[in-house]
Amino acid sequence: MSQAQAAKLEQYEITDAVSSFLASPRKMLVGDGWVDAKSGRTLDVLDPATNRLITSVPAADSADVDDAVRAAEQAFVSPDWGGLSPAERESLLLKVADVIETRADDFSQIITLECGKPLAESDEEIADALSTWRYCAAWATRIEGSSVNPINPIIPEKSAFGYTRKEPIGVVGAIIPWNFPLINAVDRVAPALTAGCTVVLKPAEQTPLTALLLGEAALEAGLPAGVLNVLTGFGPEAGSPLAAHPGIGKVAFTGSTSVGKLIGKAAMENITDVNLELGGKSPMIVLEDGVDDDMLPWLAAGLFYNSGQVCTAGSRLYAHKKVFDKVVAGVADIAGSLKLGHGLEAETEMGPLVSPEQQQRVLGYIDSGVEAGAETVTGGKQWGTEGCFVEPTIFTNVHDRMKVVKEEIFGPVMVAIPFADEAEVLEKANNTSYGLTASIWSNDLSKVNRLIPRLKAGLVWVNAHNLLDLALPFGGVKQSGIGRENGLDGVEEYLETKTVIMYS
Ligand code: NAP
Ligand code: MG
Repeated sequence: MSQAQAAKLEQYEITDAVSSFLASPRKMLVGDGWVDAKSGRTLDVLDPATNRLITSVPAADSADVDDAVRAAEQAFVSPDWGGLSPAERESLLLKVADVIETRADDFSQIITLECGKPLAESDEEIADALSTWRYCAAWATRIEGSSVNPINPIIPEKSAFGYTRKEPIGVVGAIIPWNFPLINAVDRVAPALTAGCTVVLKPAEQTPLTALLLGEAALEAGLPAGVLNVLTGFGPEAGSPLAAHPGIGKVAFTGSTSVGKLIGKAAMENITDVNLELGGKSPMIVLEDGVDDDMLPWLAAGLFYNSGQVCTAGSRLYAHKKVFDKVVAGVADIAGSLKLGHGLEAETEMGPLVSPEQQQRVLGYIDSGVEAGAETVTGGKQWGTEGCFVEPTIFTNVHDRMKVVKEEIFGPVMVAIPFADEAEVLEKANNTSYGLTASIWSNDLSKVNRLIPRLKAGLVWVNAHNLLDLALPFGGVKQSGIGRENGLDGVEEYLETKTVIMYS
């Protein structure tokens, strides 16, 4: 850690575990060992609120991927993992959740330090991760196939019987982004382990520490060596060989649509199964009856939560022309009053973006909006003198061809657009290559129910946005992805159906 960063952290009550975690360069988890990259290369981890170094981690490449996949393959068939009964697997997984819970303060501070979000949001992420982990674990004892009587048995003197077995798909290569360092990992790891798979996890280069802490928690809980491996490193050097590895049974990827396409192609070389949770440009549609004042904070959070770095972010606000001015003014008031600051400060409501690159990318989008004639209702600039902060920003007077309307910004930038009728808003809302989520804000159920089937999205909220439920499937249509997380659908992503046809 740099001296300046150490001095900065002295202001806060950092846990002893986090202090020692940051005191020296970290190693990554392969099998039962904490190792450096074989090449000896490392990558720096920065605090995005200060841009200062907090520590470094190994930068894995294909040689390390080979080792990790081998460790995961061995664990997959080992008696102490592959040989466990579903009930034993469930009980072991529940122990991992207990360790995460015991170490919640460590997780919370690490998430905030490397990702920038306020501690309260890190705490919410941990609560989400714990319920997801425990919910998934309970499916371990409830995985079922079906029995079928064959329709045309061809040995008539024998009795014929058919059934299906749900078997774990093998080693899962999980590649994840930085916006929710723990929940992104848990959304992949928990259902995969519940199904009986083993995992090689490649976290984002910006947020590897949370994943390493998860590896520590798993070992502390007694998860056998090789069941969860954590490879830190860069996407092209560590992620790419993982997706292309012939030992992988499934690639579970969360990230941008552009990288998702590369992952899909690499996986198809080996006919490896893929699950892709990709980007979005989700519409929030406020109908003519408008929203009560107490719903305005939910609309604002629909985009500004986690500084807008949310795949489901409601980045396009469509409001009926009769209520447009009132809704935009209400949301802008809330956005303009958000308290920005270091995530470790108790009163901070919005943290920095994750990195200088992301900050420049978002500021570039803001410039492009202004140049194209958009009107800035609030925000529009970098905030503060250090760190990767950007003001919460709302644009009006935009049109469908502008980059700020078409492309995923992944930052605190909302475009607000009025509409006259259902046909117009449907056409606009669906006019995107993405199809992750959408929300409709109204108590007029006949209108709401007409819109739901016509919106091209994997998930539609009514009078809410961004509120996922771990029992309900989540995933996108169009270029927002393939497959589902959460619910039984999420566990089934990691199971393969084997059919048995038996004559006796
Ligand atoms: P990204 O660039 O696609 O990175 C995601 C992961 O892929 C990172 O671990 C990254 O490693 C790795 N990667 C990069 N290039 C790779 C390659 N050539 N081969 C294999 N792996 C590679 O995404 P991001 O910009 O970090 O994250 C934001 C995106 O994620 C947004 O588009 C957002 O919508 C999406 N997202 C989707 C969901 C969802 O559930 N639908 C949830 C969260 C985020 P490095 O970190 O080293 O680049
Ligand atoms: Mg990246």
